[in-house]
Amino acid sequence: MKKINGEKIYLLPELPYEYDALVPFLSNEQIRIHHQKHHAGYVAGVNASFEKLEQARIGNVDLDMKATLKNQAFHIGGYLLHKLFWNNLAPLNDGGGVPAGEILIAINNEFGSFERFQKEFTQTALSTEGSGWAALVYCKCTKRPLLMQIEKHNINIYPNFKILLVLDVWEHAYYIDYKNDRGKYIEAFWKIVNWKKVEERFEKVMA
Ligand code: MN
Repeated sequence: MKKINGEKIYLLPELPYEYDALVPFLSNEQIRIHHQKHHAGYVAGVNASFEKLEQARIGNVDLDMKATLKNQAFHIGGYLLHKLFWNNLAPLNDGGGVPAGEILIAINNEFGSFERFQKEFTQTALSTEGSGWAALVYCKCTKRPLLMQIEKHNINIYPNFKILLVLDVWEHAYYIDYKNDRGKYIEAFWKIVNWKKVEERFEKVMA
């Protein structure tokens, strides 16, 4: 959240690469629409929700707090997850493969092998019902990485677990390039994962 002209609002973050940087795995059009329409939609949604709360406070009007906060959680979740997602994708020749360092050790210790982790993550992403996310997260209590299957943007999230890697499996993330073939999209995702960023996040969490 940034302050603009004294207003505290969310802003659409710029991508850390050009719109065509992930071709041929994700097209310019796919990334552009995902960023400019969908991610931007969550930014607009959360700002509208703050505005609605503020207006109600000024007018001393009662709101349906359950509906209002559900809507706000949905949009904040969408805003944050997309920000993480863009940053854990890498332009060609810079992504994919196998991670290195501490994150690889942690994955091997937990899942037995990188291949087993990759298989479980893929199955997590494939089996997400409707719209949601697959995530690799870290539990600071047990010092173990684990998988999380997030529904929509905000359901099944464990408070305070640190997200290391996310994959958006909403249909809007892949329909232009892969139609309804989520499996093909997930295969492509493995070619553009930015393991360096995942490792950086992991090191920060461990520090
Ligand atoms: Mn999305």
